[in-house]
Amino acid sequence: MTYEGQPLADLTKGRSITVDDYLVTSDPSVYALGDCAEVCGYVLPYVMPLTNAAKALGPNLAGEPTAVSYPVIPVTVKTSCCQGVAWPPEAGAQGGWRIDGEAPDLRAEFYDTNGDLTGFAVTGKRIKERMQLSKGMPALIGNKA
Ligand SMILES: Cc1cc2nc3c(=O)[nH]c(=O)nc-3n(C[C@H](O)[C@H](O)[C@H](O)COP(=O)(O)OP(=O)(O)OC[C@H]3O[C@@H](n4cnc5c(N)ncnc54)[C@H](O)[C@@H]3O)c2cc1C
Repeated sequence: MTYEGQPLADLTKGRSITVDDYLVTSDPSVYALGDCAEVCGYVLPYVMPLTNAAKALGPNLAGEPTAVSYPVIPVTVKTSCCQGVAWPPEAGAQGGWRIDGEAPDLRAEFYDTNGDLTGFAVTGKRIKERMQLSKGMPALIGNKA
């Protein structure tokens, strides 16, 4: 990683600035969060993960070690013709989709080979089911709270 042609500290091992669940890089004096940070292997460039990370970073900087937690944070696709909310399974996940409803009001659930729900997408009137679907899934990092 460089800034104005000059090398910065080598903090990138993955796709971004790599941090653990305490948001610490390989340099213990440097923390990262937001779009630039890969937290425990996850790059989630939107506001909710950033907010969750900030809740951990504050205490960490104040000397109270606090691990970040990422619940399932579905992405809302905002279009005027058809609203959608999705939490896709991890790239390459093995399993299959079960799809219910008639377009544009669809509910799709992805089950892995153990039969666990690991992703979903809902559109139209079915977006009201997003909370119920999210609650049925394990947190991405740490606890659901
Ligand atoms: C068009 C668009 C729509 C979006 N809509 C949504 C949405 O609806 N919901 C949602 O959750 N998320 C949305 N996002 C994502 C959301 O905006 C980002 O996840 C969030 O802004 C990331 O915050 P950040 O502080 O990590 O980075 P940023 O907000 O990108 O802030 C980084 C700051 O660093 C500054 N900077 C960069 N380089 C340097 C440098 N070398 N020196 C000094 N300063 C520097 C930049 O100017 C910028 O001000 C959207 C993003 C885009 C682009």
